[in-house]
Amino acid sequence: MKTLINLIIVFFIGVLTAQESFVIKDVMLFDGEKVTEKISILIENGKISKIAPIIKKEVTIIDGTGKFIMPGMTNCHVHAWAPNALEQAAQAGVLNLLDMHGVEPYQGMMKSMKDSTNYARFYVAGYAATAPGGHGTQYGFPVPTLTKPEDATKFVEDRVNAEVDHIKIIVEPWKPTLSHETVKAVIDEAHKNNKKAVVHISKVEDAYNVLNNNADGLVHIWTDKPLANDKLKQLSADKDFFVIPTLLTNIEVLKVIKKKSEEEIAIKTEFLFAEIQKLYKAGVPILMGTDPPNANINHGTDLYKELLLVSEAGIPNLEVLKGATSYPADQFKLNKIGYIKEGYIADILLLSKNPLKDIKHIGTIESIWKAGKKVQQQK
Ligand SMILES: [Zn+2]
Repeated sequence: MKTLINLIIVFFIGVLTAQESFVIKDVMLFDGEKVTEKISILIENGKISKIAPIIKKEVTIIDGTGKFIMPGMTNCHVHAWAPNALEQAAQAGVLNLLDMHGVEPYQGMMKSMKDSTNYARFYVAGYAATAPGGHGTQYGFPVPTLTKPEDATKFVEDRVNAEVDHIKIIVEPWKPTLSHETVKAVIDEAHKNNKKAVVHISKVEDAYNVLNNNADGLVHIWTDKPLANDKLKQLSADKDFFVIPTLLTNIEVLKVIKKKSEEEIAIKTEFLFAEIQKLYKAGVPILMGTDPPNANINHGTDLYKELLLVSEAGIPNLEVLKGATSYPADQFKLNKIGYIKEGYIADILLLSKNPLKDIKHIGTIESIWKAGKKVQQQK
């Protein structure tokens, strides 16, 4: 009897974990690092189990001739208030969303959907660190605030208890804002708790200060003045950091909210492009993010517009794709995603055209697999 029960248990576990196995054959592969012209990939049990020139296996074969494969994408700056945002993202091949300030009690529920095929995984900051009456307090939900460096320990402890993935800090001087001493204390406390600390800035002086104080990354680029070359040289020599420039957000805010003229937008765009080029040349990783739903930006296909803008700024397309795949995984330590490598989770986009030739081809996604299961595309 015991044996029979054991057999039944084994059978049911088998049914629950059985997943489609398939091979994508003779495809061009961007694996998160480099490009291989013609290769085959075996997907089994939700993982990439083999990558080789020829794979012989009795499974479904998908002919990838003339097509392009890349890892699922990550949007590194979002605010998502409900699961439909995660669904919209997955539909566009954006399989991971990095929240940068939200309502903690809802976030636990949204995070728990990480294994649902039709929803993007959600990595959260919880409440961002800000001052009383500061940026981030205006959205209609109560937000804990800080007034002095001594507040940092409890603030970070509360976020850790809420199971956040990273710590977000706001420095925005158009409203009451945190002092740089308090920001530094939050960064230090985040690092003690093994969390990345990323900062919202809008002014170059604040960017310089927070990076000097060991911030891991900026979630926007500054918009006021150029970063002096000697400062950039010093920062890139002394510190490891990344920038999520959110170009689309900056430009859409100028258009939609500030109603600037086309000429003013063109001048600002040139400025932003030049700053991003400087960062790229200094070896700073540029990560893709769009800050939805600000300026009516969506959680899905609008990420393609960011890739296009970063490409237009003069960043090579290979680097742009890394900024949407492997760089976020490296910088935010996302486990076994962002790459198409043996042993990694099978988050795969199959495109009919090569986005390295023209970044606009990111819009030619034919099929999306999350952990080896096909996302049901609603078009
Ligand atoms: Zn934001």
